[in-house]
Amino acid sequence: MSEVFGGTPKTTRETRVPPEANARVGFWPASARQEATCADGADLSRKQGCAARRALFRSGINIAIIGGGPAGLRAAEVAAAAGASVTLFDAKASVGRKFLVAGRGGLNLTHAEPRLDFAQRYTGRDQPPGTWTSLLADFDADALRAWAAELGVETFAATSGRVYPRALKAAPLLRRWVHRLREAGVKFSLHHRWTGLRPGTQWQLDFQVQGEARTVEADAVILALGGGSWPETGSDGGWVSGLEKLGVAVNGFKSSNCGWELPWPAAVLALAEGQPLKNITARAGAVTAVGELLVTRYGLEGGAIYQLGPALRAMAHPEIAIDFKPTHTVEQLVRKLGNCPNNFLAAARSRWKLSDAAYAILENRPGGAPFTSAESLATTTKNCPLPLTGPRPLSEAISSAGGVCWRELDASLMIHRLPGVFVAGEMIDWDAPTGGYLMQGCFVTGTRAACGAVAWRPAGGGPAR
Ligand SMILES: Cc1cc2nc3c(=O)[nH]c(=O)nc-3n(C[C@H](O)[C@H](O)[C@H](O)COP(=O)(O)OP(=O)(O)OC[C@H]3O[C@@H](n4cnc5c(N)ncnc54)[C@H](O)[C@@H]3O)c2cc1C
Repeated sequence: MSEVFGGTPKTTRETRVPPEANARVGFWPASARQEATCADGADLSRKQGCAARRALFRSGINIAIIGGGPAGLRAAEVAAAAGASVTLFDAKASVGRKFLVAGRGGLNLTHAEPRLDFAQRYTGRDQPPGTWTSLLADFDADALRAWAAELGVETFAATSGRVYPRALKAAPLLRRWVHRLREAGVKFSLHHRWTGLRPGTQWQLDFQVQGEARTVEADAVILALGGGSWPETGSDGGWVSGLEKLGVAVNGFKSSNCGWELPWPAAVLALAEGQPLKNITARAGAVTAVGELLVTRYGLEGGAIYQLGPALRAMAHPEIAIDFKPTHTVEQLVRKLGNCPNNFLAAARSRWKLSDAAYAILENRPGGAPFTSAESLATTTKNCPLPLTGPRPLSEAISSAGGVCWRELDASLMIHRLPGVFVAGEMIDWDAPTGGYLMQGCFVTGTRAACGAVAWRPAGGGPAR
């Protein structure tokens, strides 16, 4: 599983952070550092940047950030650098637990592909067009790498374009990050489980703190409570009912970047369980993914099927079609097989160098009789349909699709019906494949929400609500 989070990256090609990226490191996104005042017609992120910059000189706003994953930590960093008084609350005894879990696979921080291609990776129901181009303009992959470098963590891009810390570890980065946040004045209130919020002269935030109810006041709030996968890390989706009670629409969580179930016949498992399918392509409807798959007791795992998640979820009867020999045409395979009097599959196993797993799947494919011609074997080898019964449970998925609906949010990620309350990270209804896009998505939404919170003032002026 070299290309999924559980694997170890190949580290052959190095790409250094370009020096100009260092100019964008700091705490503030590029847009926030522009000196110009915003003219009508300036783009939204630039307007926000200007507003946030003006807010730099109006420090003193008291911001509560709830959730200490990468989105919340990044929001805390940006807000504290703007002079806000920041307290970060988390239900757990420590922050960044899922970040540390991501570190077990080397911590794929971001991806080195061009920003426009990057922006295309993000999907989400009713996501306003241009959302990710605008978000990434504030804090792109180079900025994230430069940010890591500022913390003394050098990064490299693997041949796949995935970017990792050179040490392939999350803990040193998280330790330095939290230390720097403390030095910047961010206060950490752990063991604080958020249960709801109420308007008042300031926002009234309700917490359960080791069995006791506690209320905290804040001028602005950033919720960065995570998605619904790996609940043991703290992101258990328990916040959904709290926001729904306040009238905020939330699309239900679905497993994303996860395995899919397929009841393999015993004969497949006997030969193929735990075996990879390398150099294949997989298709779901019109979407094709390149990568690897792993045959597991319950079905299929791996980068190729993770990429197909959104397409599979949209199918009434999810089905994946595997091309075991994507670099050959049917005609080439038939020619390569040559004269073959009886067992076509046995001959193909050696002449086409079919892996054990591919051989076992072709031999035991659903509803399949023995192949009676080289053409029928070659055609099925290039398009082997496998019906799936469903995704693996949310609790074991790498990420979750679903979350706070985009229509509830303005461009600063503030919830329209809760002025002064912003959201960031995986709790918003966006989805992205593995490859560093998830982490980058958390950093950019954390950045945007913090800029919004720092710049936010209630209608009519006033220092706070
Ligand atoms: C096994 C695994 C490997 C991964 N590897 C990678 C990778 O290499 N690269 C990548 O890009 N992504 C990876 N991811 C995904 C990435 O870790 C997540 O997308 C990211 O952590 C989400 O960040 P977040 O800040 O939105 O939420 P989270 O990191 O989930 O943090 C949410 C925080 O909110 C707190 N919280 C929740 N509810 C409450 C409440 N009611 N009150 C108070 N606090 C609360 C939680 O305790 C938690 O600290 C991986 C995920 C998994 C599971």
